[in-house]
Amino acid sequence: MSNTVTRADFDQVMVPNYGPAGFIPVKGLGSRVWDQSGREFIDFAGGIAVNSLGHCHPQLVATLTEQASKLWHVSNVFTNEPALKLGKLLTETTFAERVFFCNSGAEANEAAFKLARKYGSDHFGPEKNQILACKNSFHGRTLFTVSVGGQPKYTEGFGPVPGGIAHFEYNDIESLKAAISDQTCAVVIEPIQGEGGVMPADKAFLEAARELCDQHNALLVFDEVQSGVGRTGSLFAYQEYGVTPDILSSAKGIGGGFPIGAMLTTEKVAKSFGIGTHGSTYGGNPLACAVAHKVLELVNEPAVLDGVRAKHQRFVDGLNAINAKYQVFKTVRGMGLLLGCVLTDAYAGRAKEFLKAAEKQGLMLLVAGLSVVRLAPSLVIEDKDIDEGLARFEAAIAELTSAQ
Ligand SMILES: *Cc1c(COP(=O)(O)O)cnc(C)c1O
Repeated sequence: MSNTVTRADFDQVMVPNYGPAGFIPVKGLGSRVWDQSGREFIDFAGGIAVNSLGHCHPQLVATLTEQASKLWHVSNVFTNEPALKLGKLLTETTFAERVFFCNSGAEANEAAFKLARKYGSDHFGPEKNQILACKNSFHGRTLFTVSVGGQPKYTEGFGPVPGGIAHFEYNDIESLKAAISDQTCAVVIEPIQGEGGVMPADKAFLEAARELCDQHNALLVFDEVQSGVGRTGSLFAYQEYGVTPDILSSAKGIGGGFPIGAMLTTEKVAKSFGIGTHGSTYGGNPLACAVAHKVLELVNEPAVLDGVRAKHQRFVDGLNAINAKYQVFKTVRGMGLLLGCVLTDAYAGRAKEFLKAAEKQGLMLLVAGLSVVRLAPSLVIEDKDIDEGLARFEAAIAELTSAQ
């Protein structure tokens, strides 16, 4: 048997639920990545808003290797120092008074939804179990979280799905007003819909959601798995909006590439998860928590957060300049370093073609749905990498549009 693997092996050994790019990345540094043949790419994908400090940040490598030689895992039968330090830092820097650790965004949301149900049941009785979420939202791929996410394509064929879930229109106060009732235990919102097309919430919509939740004794849950940890230029997007949830889920960027999820909440709400009510074997793992603590420390610096705003402008100006020449984007939207280029009607449904064209030019991009090209680069991407990546994007668009 050969020790070398190729992209063709993917189709032989993997369950076919993904269709990865044609090259295999083997090495990364900052916002540059190299494939098996040594070809260099600029990374505007950031591991889907995960590599918040780029690839192999020296301080993350140092933190991980230091912890790796100390203690890897003890389970929740014991606690550990990195988990406690990360918990303290999260409670110091956010609204949260209590935190729960897990391994992914879906698990953080699973915990959030279960906690909201349990809190409703504890305080108001078992009928208070309805979870309201937005159409076209995304909360993960477990059966409960795909059911709460309002995208039918992700639940088709997986029924029966859990009940007690209803959907309303994003950024539509009247739609939420019509849906909410005293049976609602939680209203779940992404402050920016990521997978749903990089769609930021209106401030008035989040304020109204907060008010309606208070009127109906429902918990407001913000899914900040994609929007959190500096992505918008604030540590969490709720801080940018000035609307505070009762429960917040975090994952993706908080680990900088090491798998970890976190659910943040208040002391009062947390009480509904008594001993034995919920858990995770790996949750609070020392390796993950040590890395996440360092990520938070590094990201929660004015220089980095202000940098995100400045880089946002650099990207938007560059993308608009490209668009002035080629007219392929209807609009460029998003916050901080989560950006969506919405394709014009002529290119609607063809976002994947932009990724393929970019791959040829040595640029890694993302889509968000069929008609939005998404960028979620490192929060500390260097300006020269932004400029070089945009030049490659322009070359890709030039080729794509000339082939028409
Ligand atoms: C990615 C994402 C999730 C799911 O996170 P996983 O780590 O893939 O389980 C949940 N919510 C939002 C908003 C996301 O972007």
